[in-house]
Amino acid sequence: MPGMRIAVYSTQPYDRRFFDTANAHGTHVLTYLEARLTAQTVPTAADADAVCVFVNDVVNAEVLQALHCRGVRLVALRCAGFNNVDLIAARDLGITVCRVPEYSPYAVAEHTAALMLALNRKTHRAYARVRERNFALEGLLGFDLRGKTAGVVGTGRIGAAFVRIMVGFGCTVLAHDPYPNAECAALGARYVPLEELLRASDIVSLHCPLTPSTRHLIDDGAIAAMRRGAMLINTSRGAVIDTRAVINGLKTGAIGSLGLDVYEEEADLFFRDLSDEILHDDVFARLLTFPNVIITAHQAFFTAEALTGIAETTLANIGAFESTGKALHKVSTERLA
Ligand code: NAD
Repeated sequence: MPGMRIAVYSTQPYDRRFFDTANAHGTHVLTYLEARLTAQTVPTAADADAVCVFVNDVVNAEVLQALHCRGVRLVALRCAGFNNVDLIAARDLGITVCRVPEYSPYAVAEHTAALMLALNRKTHRAYARVRERNFALEGLLGFDLRGKTAGVVGTGRIGAAFVRIMVGFGCTVLAHDPYPNAECAALGARYVPLEELLRASDIVSLHCPLTPSTRHLIDDGAIAAMRRGAMLINTSRGAVIDTRAVINGLKTGAIGSLGLDVYEEEADLFFRDLSDEILHDDVFARLLTFPNVIITAHQAFFTAEALTGIAETTLANIGAFESTGKALHKVSTERLA
């Protein structure tokens, strides 16, 4: 069997390493492309049967139509989120879309905890101070996590892993999810309406997918409902928060600190070294000025275990599609709600 020909977009050296290992038997023919998939780069799919894409590749109706014309039958997302794919257009064109629903929820939950701990104890500032031989503590005051209230929005795989961590810290956990998770409830998380969660939480962490109903879930109104000075952490998708509203919240002190691993306009920034270039995104530039904001560039998933799982599940999806016409983890349009 020749295997599938797969054009793998947005690849970095680490993607190649983990995919080559998972494809050690040479089952599939992988063509690695550094470029993002966009309407302009579709021709680079050449004669591929499938495209493998990541979080910031553009898989809208126009791109899908162009891929269809080239004979592409499968879009294999190598991530959990699928907000960048027009699922209706894919369905109408008969293109299967699959994803990696679970690789390491721990990777993302643990990174969320890392942001939370760093924000609380100002580790980013302490690190810089000590390197300057400034050993003063003024300005680094934190709080005990034990006894505080953590609000977890979205208690799927990652949210549940984060609930376990927060319970371990001795926090009271409030949760909000249209589909409550029995494991989280058994751990002591109490499911409440979003407004109650925002009102009562010292730390709010977002773990829901980006859908039409979660876009700008954290807007001016939500920030006004939050406990004054609370910490907000977003490791889900950038557009779940309205960045401009959050900047206003930081300026007024409504938000006490902010941890971001994702950003609404990250597609033009993240996963590249732009250190020699002028930053044109003024909203992002403003975020960088706050001492109480820590931003990482979509690295929450980035552990060896997660990359191994991503590569293996993606190739298993593709292998199943090749042999049965069905991917293991197909994304259906029903998930759009
Ligand atoms: P999941 O599907 O297991 O869980 C998502 C949960 O969110 C579900 O329980 C769902 O019912 C809930 N939800 C849906 N709408 C909601 C709403 N309006 N309010 C509250 N909850 C809502 O997904 P997961 O694996 O836990 O991943 C969650 C998200 O994390 C992904 O969709 C993805 O966007 C993001 N993610 C980020 C990274 C990263 O590196 N930063 C990595 C993986 C996933």
